[in-house]
Amino acid sequence: MVETLPALAIGEDERLDLENLATGAFHPVRGFMTREEALSVAQEMRLPTGEVWTIPILLQFRERPKVGPKDTVALVHGGERVALLHVAEAYELDLRALARAVFGTESEAHPGVARLYAKGPYVLGGRVEVLKPRPRGLLEKTPEEVRAFFRERGWRKVVAFQTRNAPHRAHEYLIRLGLELADGVLVHPILGAKKADDFPTEVIVRAYQALLEGFLPKERVALFGLATPMRYAGPKEAVFHALVRKNFGATHFLVGRDHAGVGDFYDPYAAHRIFDALPPLGIEIVKVGAIFHCPLCGGIASERTCPEGHREKRLSISMTRVRALLREGKAPPPELVRPELLPILRQGVA
Ligand SMILES: [Zn+2]
Repeated sequence: MVETLPALAIGEDERLDLENLATGAFHPVRGFMTREEALSVAQEMRLPTGEVWTIPILLQFRERPKVGPKDTVALVHGGERVALLHVAEAYELDLRALARAVFGTESEAHPGVARLYAKGPYVLGGRVEVLKPRPRGLLEKTPEEVRAFFRERGWRKVVAFQTRNAPHRAHEYLIRLGLELADGVLVHPILGAKKADDFPTEVIVRAYQALLEGFLPKERVALFGLATPMRYAGPKEAVFHALVRKNFGATHFLVGRDHAGVGDFYDPYAAHRIFDALPPLGIEIVKVGAIFHCPLCGGIASERTCPEGHREKRLSISMTRVRALLREGKAPPPELVRPELLPILRQGVA
């Protein structure tokens, strides 16, 4: 009986990820990781079974749970028993060593590292069984549903675009690039937790909806969401993002400059190079360099399309800059972000 099992409270991130485990979004990962799995992923970028995987999927606690292997416990969220965990292992992790291996830093100034530390060093590994699925938002689809959507549309070549941000002009350019290459583009924003100075999820989604409605061939763009937190793990997260989008049926994955990076923690092209060190992942990586506005080229251009001699004139496009202007009550120039999106974006800055 579920009611009589020991119960453990879990956070929002873990609630999201246990469903990702159950739906196959994290295939071939099937459960919260054991120590061997977590260390193998952190150090070798592979599961012990040999498949490439780069982000540990952990069920962490700040206090040692009073359970052991072979126990079954109920996982509680929002006062409800939402899932069962069949415990394979209860262990303690050296979180600093894990942070160094996965994030390349121990610094608590890194939002992903700070989050890892805050969750605590006690870990339970094992398979999960969902008892009560989360109410899903309009944009949340399982991998199976998204693959069925592509089949119905007859899309064979699908470029996936990961984002944690509202769209500025460079994001829009990447989506258009995907539309040139493929039958359709999957715009797949992160619906889970993001750092405090990112836009709230509902602002991001509304901004994409407005972009699709007004400015893109919306019959060739699929806007769905991925309910998992951002880790800001740069190159390691780029690989994770690609593998997850393969599970959702994408054939190609766009990796821009400083993908999933934060501050100056990663070399902007480390997220491109990491793929060179890995075997083929079953999803083709489309690497794109810096994208900017160039008045001399007369529009959006990139390091591959704008001559070096224009360098001084290039206007870099960054959402940090857009947000700073919005906070000052100024209108960011149309070279950075579509004026039509500004009323939505203004609601996303405190
Ligand atoms: Zn130029």
